[in-house]
Amino acid sequence: MTLDLPTLLQDIAADVRPLLGEGEVASYIPALSRMPRDRFGIAVATIDGRVYGAGDSGHRFSIQSLSKMYALALALQREGDALWQRVGREPSGTPFNSLVQLERERGVPRNPFVNAGALVVTDVLCRRYLQPERAVLEFVHRLLGEADVAIDAEVARSERGHSDRNAAIAHFMRSFGNLHGDVGAVLDAYCAQCAIAMSCRELARAGLFLAADGVQPPGTRVVDALAARRINALMLTCGAYDAAGDLACRIGLPVKTGVGGGIVAVVPGRLCVCAWAPGLDANGNSIAAAAAIERFATAIGASIFAAD
Ligand code: GLU
Repeated sequence: MTLDLPTLLQDIAADVRPLLGEGEVASYIPALSRMPRDRFGIAVATIDGRVYGAGDSGHRFSIQSLSKMYALALALQREGDALWQRVGREPSGTPFNSLVQLERERGVPRNPFVNAGALVVTDVLCRRYLQPERAVLEFVHRLLGEADVAIDAEVARSERGHSDRNAAIAHFMRSFGNLHGDVGAVLDAYCAQCAIAMSCRELARAGLFLAADGVQPPGTRVVDALAARRINALMLTCGAYDAAGDLACRIGLPVKTGVGGGIVAVVPGRLCVCAWAPGLDANGNSIAAAAAIERFATAIGASIFAAD
C-alpha cells in the first residue's frame, strides 16, 4: 500500500485540534509566553527529497532545545569521541535545567540534551569558533542548502536576561573544571542558538541527515555515520527530558523536544517529521505535537522496534 502522506497529515492536524487548549505555553521569557496556544503544524521530509506539511507547517517558531541536536552534531564533528569525557550519555531522571546531579557527578552532565550538557557542548564550540552561535546557524544553513533561517534577536536577548539558572549551572561546572571558557560568552552563544527560529518544514528537512547515517540528502556528508547513530541513540534515551521513556514507549523513535513546542522525530532510512504546538505538559514537552507524532508513527508503522 502506498501511503498518502498529505492526507494523513491533514487528518492528524484535525485529530489533535481538541488538544490545543491543553498545557501551558513556556512563560519563562515574555517573547515565548505571547505565542497563541491554538497554533499547530506538522511536516514530513523524506530522504528522497519530498516535503509535505499541514496546518502551520511553514510558520517559524523558537526552536529552543531542538538546537541541541545541531550543536551536538557540530561538536562531534569537530571533537570526535573526546567529547564523551566531558558529557555523559545517560538519561538524567531530573528536569532539563536541574543542578542536583552535577554535584554527585563532579560537574559532568548526564547527557548533551539537558542544559548542563548543552552548555558543555557550547563551551567546546566556543573553543573552536569565534562566533559559535553563527557556526550552529551556518550548520543549519548547510543542512537546508539556503541561508534564510536566522536567530530571533528579541528571544535571544530575553533569554540571556533570564539566564540565572543556566549561569548557575555553568559556574558550577566551571568550579569542577568542566567548563573552560568564559561563562558569559558560553551563555551568550547558548541563548542565541536556542533563539533560532524555524518552521516544521525546515526542521523536518534539516533533520534528514539523522535519518541517513550522517549524509544530508541528496548527498552531503555532515557527520560520520557513527556520530549520527549516537545522536539518534541519545535522542531516543534522553531527547524528551524526564519523559524520554514515555515517548520511547508511545512513539518508538529518536525524538528531540523543545520548550518552544517543537518536536522532531527521526525514522532512520526513511524520513524526518516535525510537529509544533505551543502548549506544554509539566515536563516541558508539547502535548499536541507529541500526540501528532505518536499518531503519525503508528499510522506508517515507523517504530524502530517493529519487526517489519
Ligand atoms: N532556552 C531554554 C533553557 O535553556 C531551552 C530549554 C528547552 O527548550 O528545553 O532553559
